[in-house]
Amino acid sequence: MQYKDTRDSSVSVDFRTAVLSGMNAKTGGLYVPESIPHFSSDLLNRSTTPSFRDIAFEGAKPFVDGEILEADLEKIIIDAYPFAPQVVPIDPITYVMELFHGPTCAFKDFGARFMARVMSYFNQKENDRLHILVATSGDTGSAVGSAFHNVPGLDVTILYPKGKISPLQEKQLSTFTGNVRALSVDGTFDDCQKLVKTAFTDADLRKKFRLSSANSINISRLLPQSFYYTYTALAVRNRCAMDNKIENPAVIMTVPSGNFGNLTSGLIAKEMGAPIEGFVAATNSNRTIPDWISSGKYEARPSVSTYSNAMDVGAPSNYERIKYMYNLEEVRKMFGSYWLDNDGTLEGIKKCHQNTGYIIDPHGAVAYTAWDDIRSGAMEKLIKGEKNDPAKPGLTPNVPAWANTVLEKRAVGVILETAHPAKFGEVVQKAIGREPSIPDRLQQIMKLPDMSIDMSKDYETFKDWLINNL
Ligand SMILES: *Cc1c(COP(=O)(O)O)cnc(C)c1O
Repeated sequence: MQYKDTRDSSVSVDFRTAVLSGMNAKTGGLYVPESIPHFSSDLLNRSTTPSFRDIAFEGAKPFVDGEILEADLEKIIIDAYPFAPQVVPIDPITYVMELFHGPTCAFKDFGARFMARVMSYFNQKENDRLHILVATSGDTGSAVGSAFHNVPGLDVTILYPKGKISPLQEKQLSTFTGNVRALSVDGTFDDCQKLVKTAFTDADLRKKFRLSSANSINISRLLPQSFYYTYTALAVRNRCAMDNKIENPAVIMTVPSGNFGNLTSGLIAKEMGAPIEGFVAATNSNRTIPDWISSGKYEARPSVSTYSNAMDVGAPSNYERIKYMYNLEEVRKMFGSYWLDNDGTLEGIKKCHQNTGYIIDPHGAVAYTAWDDIRSGAMEKLIKGEKNDPAKPGLTPNVPAWANTVLEKRAVGVILETAHPAKFGEVVQKAIGREPSIPDRLQQIMKLPDMSIDMSKDYETFKDWLINNL
């Protein structure tokens, strides 16, 4: 498989190059597969749902074809995924896709663990160390740090916005040792992302070091995320007849989004043949994408802090991939789009708990509220021409192609639960009056000492530090 550059159609690179370079430093463009392969109809039509690992192996094969031996790919998948997504019904037409069963309790483990093993595979033949730079608005850093910890030949520098992530997330980042270190940056996530992006295009640094990224801009993080969509869509389709007597469900994936890497992975899964009818792009007050879908004008803005802080992104990096893959009209047909403020998020956690008994985290709550609103009348209103004011929380005015499946009672919602609620215990406490219990693997981390290094958001200071410390 060859990979194209979103900014220069003459560029075409192999998987190895796309993975190790992260993005095209010359153009600033992102890599996308030149074509999307299709799953075999055998895999898509089995009466028992294939295992997550089987789907991952079959799904990854064409993307790495000729560059990773099948036997090695199988080892990578087995080693990366000792855990799987869990599909949990919470009411007759709503399922939660729990993506927090990996080591850091967030969905980013799926992408980061595959990426780390693939990079290590490709780096075996090199003499130099590969330096990974990663900006995080929360969960990326811990997933990447954990995935790369003690992987030979690689080291990782994580940049996070000081004080703008939850105390537990900060603990997860600041306690790495050895080949993984965290910089606590006096600025926002966008400042962190800018430092990393500038470093990648800095010819000076590139001469000195082999640099690579690990943000959702890296294609090797995006691809494996598509596999849990396929797994869940098949699992839901196969159990609906039993759960709710819907024979031909229209599966709507509701995705709490920040940089839109997760949602882009869903688009890839749909193209590969996963039985997904449509998507809801759900954001917090950082509503750059809902506004683009409403108005047709894309305007990046500074990010604002919210309860669902892993989605506090004002300039979503995967917008560029979505725009490359589809035009605006296609996006408006595929996506319902929804945004929600902080009060609505608290309300969503509370409502989900009251109505279903399920404790959802603030990110999942944004998606839950979007879906709950859509199936409880918001989509019907929209079809009738009653539009929500885009400046107020709610659905954007476009009517997606799947809108009628909601009225026909064929639509089944899948909420992507991207983090364990215990990672946002304070917010959950505020909403429902008690904190969720903390999984063991998080509790262990609270006992470790803080090893993070303070960093200014000034590029030259950051660059000097890299030169002196890498
Ligand atoms: C990163 C993250 C998101 C946003 O995912 P994107 O791929 O950036 O859209 C949502 N929820 C949680 C918990 C996250 O860590």
